[in-house]
Order: sequence, then structure tokens, then C-alpha cells
Amino acid sequence: MLLFPSIADYRSINVMEFKYFKNPDKFAFLTSEPEACSVCGKLEVCFDAGGYSGINSIDCICFECLASGKLIDLDIEPNMIFDDGSEASKTITYKTPALPTWQETAWPTIKGRQPTFECIASKQDFLNKQDFLDCFIEDNQTREEVEWIWDTLPDKKLSSYEDASDISVYLFSLDNKKYWVWDAN
Ligand SMILES: [Zn+2]
Repeated sequence: MLLFPSIADYRSINVMEFKYFKNPDKFAFLTSEPEACSVCGKLEVCFDAGGYSGINSIDCICFECLASGKLIDLDIEPNMIFDDGSEASKTITYKTPALPTWQETAWPTIKGRQPTFECIASKQDFLNKQDFLDCFIEDNQTREEVEWIWDTLPDKKLSSYEDASDISVYLFSLDNKKYWVWDAN
């Protein structure tokens, strides 16, 4: 009988709930130990909400409160994304863990649709450099301008945002296609 679930158990129970954020147990900013959710008071490993922007501020929020949209009324926004009035953009803005970025980096929109955040990328996530470049979202920069980033990518898959280097590539997916944006410390 498990009387005292470990942190790993708390995480595994709760990690399946975010449509647009694949691996919150690895890539979302979490509290290092169980803490009382600032919204409902439940004691568990929560999302660290210290960096969430908004009129109000809270320390942390549990999986259930975040997923169920408790931040909408509090006017706290873990993510920035172009607001096209869709349910998807609302879900990403208020009901999804924050991207583990260095700067305030907007969630991309791909041809009017919202991709899912997969991970902080390594070379393992791409077939080769050309594949990497083909997946770049050309917005303010061209592929030529970001070619050098390939050489900075870690060789091995990252197991946590804590493994990220000062230059991070954020990998997204939509309809089985990869896309990425980047930022730096
Ligand atoms: Zn809560």
C-alpha cells in the first residue's frame, strides 16, 4: 500500500492533461517539492507560476487548477500567443504550462493554427541539418540567419529543461510536422 506517493507519482498521475504541452513533467517549470497551490491550497508538486504575467501574481498552481482554467478569472497568462479568438489560443494562454523560455517568447501560430509544444530540442529530434532548417518558422529571421544554431544543439535528447544550454530551440508539432523557434539566455 502506498501511503506516501513520491514526487514521481504525483507527476505521473497528472501529466496527461495538456493538449498543447506534451511533457510538462520534464519541460514545465515545477516546484522542486510539493507546495500548497496558491489557488486551491492542495499540496502537490505544482507549476512554478512566479514568472507568469498578469495583473495578479501567484507563487504556484496545481495541475488541476491550471488545466481547468482557474487563471482566466485571475487574469494571469502563462503564455503569449496571437489571440485569434479561438478556444485553442485561449487554452494556450490560460490553461497550459508556460514555455520554458529564457525570454518572453511567443507561442507560434502556424498558418492560423496552434501547434503543440513537444520539448527543448536536441540533434536527435531532426534527421539532419537540412531537416532542422526546413522546420524553422521564418518570421523575423530567414533560415540562412539561423543556420549556426544547428552547431549549438545538444547531441543527446534533453530529459529536462534544466539540461538546456544558453541557446534553446523549442520544438513544436502540428499534423505530424515539426516546427521550431528559439531564444537565448
Ligand atoms: Zn490548485
